Amino acid sequence: MISREDFLSRLAELRAKIANACTSCGRNPDDVSLLPVTKNWPIDAVRYCQDASLSRVGENRVQEALSKQDQISGISWELIGHLQSNKVNQAVGRFARIQTLDSLKLIRKVQTASERIDQKTSLLLQINAGNDPAKYGFSIEDAPYALDEVLCCSHLQVDGLMTIAPYAPDDPSVARNCFQKLVDLRDKLCQIHGIKLSELSMGMSGDLEEAIGCGSTMIRVGSALFGTRT
Ligand SMILES: *Cc1c(COP(=O)(O)O)cnc(C)c1O
Repeated sequence: MISREDFLSRLAELRAKIANACTSCGRNPDDVSLLPVTKNWPIDAVRYCQDASLSRVGENRVQEALSKQDQISGISWELIGHLQSNKVNQAVGRFARIQTLDSLKLIRKVQTASERIDQKTSLLLQINAGNDPAKYGFSIEDAPYALDEVLCCSHLQVDGLMTIAPYAPDDPSVARNCFQKLVDLRDKLCQIHGIKLSELSMGMSGDLEEAIGCGSTMIRVGSALFGTRT
């Protein structure tokens, strides 16, 4: 695990990169929030974030997140990894937001679990905007049905959409196309349903500039902040 000093210099570098990307496309850096991704790193990664006044972290596995939550308080958690149906009851109530609602079955299960604890769950619909067979998420075509379902659920609050671009480090246009599709879908859904979907969670360490250029409101960053695990 990297030192705190190293983390702080990576954070400063990342913020400069975000600011530059915003300048290039005429956006206000305050409109792009940073979700540090602490998955696979020990609790110290979460402490670094908290001490740097970052108010939330992203985790991709329920078990790992819950065990970290038991070790620290005063920071909020977002689930960014696929949620298995058999983990729904454990997860609901423990995350400020679940970004990975990716099937109708899961939507219903999260609604039922939220009803049971009488608490609204905030969520994003995960969209496989890059049509990548290796990724979870609703297809662009199925997204309107998913949104219909969520809007009928008393205990679900949909804040927006999330996507993970196909891995194509040598061709930034792949990520850009994927992000642009998510933006177009969001605009279309808002128009059809007459609602606001203000959150667009897209962009990671390798494609955050493309994501910001397309209108991302939240980038999820792991390796640029914490390094890569060997
Ligand atoms: C791991 C992960 C990230 C962070 O990826 P980096 O490339 O390390 O920045 C972002 N989003 C999701 C869904 C992830 O699983």
